[in-house]
Amino acid sequence: MKNPDQTRREFIKNNALAVAGAAFAASLPTTLYASPKSASPAILGGDPSWSVAKWPKWPRWNPETDEKKLLEVMRSGVWSRAEVVTEFEEAWADALGAKRSLAVVNGTNALVTAISQFNIQAGDEVLVPPYTFIATVSAVLTNGAMPVFVDIDPLTYQMDPAKIEAKITPRTKAIIPVHILGLPADMDKIMAIAKKHNLIVIEDACQAHLAEIDHRKVGTIGHAGCFSFQNSKNLPIGEGGAVVSNDDAFIDRCFSYTNFGNPYGSAVGAVGAGAMMQGTKLRFSEYQAAVGLAQLKRLDSETTTRNENATYLKSQIKDIPGIVPYKLYDNVTRAAFHLFPFRYKQEDFKGLSRADFLKALSAEGVPCSSGYTTLNTQPFLNETFKSKGFKNSFAKDALDIKNYNEKNKCPENNLLCSEAVWFTQNMILGTKSDMDDIATAIEKIHKNAEKIKNLSKK
Ligand SMILES: *Cc1c(COP(=O)(O)O)cnc(C)c1O
Repeated sequence: MKNPDQTRREFIKNNALAVAGAAFAASLPTTLYASPKSASPAILGGDPSWSVAKWPKWPRWNPETDEKKLLEVMRSGVWSRAEVVTEFEEAWADALGAKRSLAVVNGTNALVTAISQFNIQAGDEVLVPPYTFIATVSAVLTNGAMPVFVDIDPLTYQMDPAKIEAKITPRTKAIIPVHILGLPADMDKIMAIAKKHNLIVIEDACQAHLAEIDHRKVGTIGHAGCFSFQNSKNLPIGEGGAVVSNDDAFIDRCFSYTNFGNPYGSAVGAVGAGAMMQGTKLRFSEYQAAVGLAQLKRLDSETTTRNENATYLKSQIKDIPGIVPYKLYDNVTRAAFHLFPFRYKQEDFKGLSRADFLKALSAEGVPCSSGYTTLNTQPFLNETFKSKGFKNSFAKDALDIKNYNEKNKCPENNLLCSEAVWFTQNMILGTKSDMDDIATAIEKIHKNAEKIKNLSKK
């Protein structure tokens, strides 16, 4: 059998040569016939490679099974936290192989809860990667602690374990590795460093549902793991989150914290004394749990599809000069691919800027984005450092933004933020031929980079 890459390339080549007249064309099936226009980038007037209408919609649900569950909750009249939430928590813990799972309002507050219940607070420092969603960092700040940025591994985009120890000070209490884009962080090395320095590890697995390292699910490797069920995430509920852990006493405290500080399980107060600790209210509802249970049924097979398509798409684009796909660590047995990322090197595209490449790719019907900007330099950090709470808990030097920026430089992340290109997870739920079309679109742009660049100059 021919390798699919070759077949596809031949197909493109043949079609590029297909200048046969319309009379022939009329007798050919439309799927086989392609005009010379298909070889030309859409932004230069050619046919788009793909169509927005073709990508799988997100979120998706099965009306027959999923809507029934939701209606049952409505008709029961029990809408606040009760049995369906417990059922969802048990199912989520089971899916991960975790002892316990606590559902909360969202991923951000799963992180806030976990950080607070490991007693991380004002005056403490927490190590975070710069390549992440803002919520990782705001959850640290919400607890009055200081985020300290550890630069990324340029190949995997994850927090680089080799750069962690240089950032540890006597104030450091925890590390928050983020399995960003759904690609697992280097947990073995991170756990070893944490053990040596007696640090807590909270995994931000908000993008990494069912991702695995050596067949262990991420989120269950550190002291706690946090998940998000926001609409765009691989397990979408609209809003929602979970803290998972094998530590019963910790999850009991988290439960109590998210329920006004009322006693729960091993987290007990004096008899009849009411709330036993300062808490808040972050409870999940029965409706959300019903949607979550329905979504969870599809998550495993969808994760398999994403892995298959991502691996295939990577193999189809990796040899295009200027396209450098993500790398997974050797011990990764499954990724979640919340996003499909690669680096774009404009020098291999005749100097065509990333912004213009993204425009040309969008014109092909392939939605794409440039991803994160540099989080470690954003103004919200300085604004927080000017607050009374921070001024009371940290030395003046530590809050000086020039000092802070100097200490928190992340050159690898700066470069990644300037080169990254992302496809969203629903795009890799399509078919293999959709992946071929994405690769074809990129190839077309590569071949015509000079012309496209000149177009944007006009
Ligand atoms: C989505 C996300 C969060 C926050 O989750 P929400 O449910 O949106 O609050 C935190 N960290 C990362 C890495 C995320 O992607």
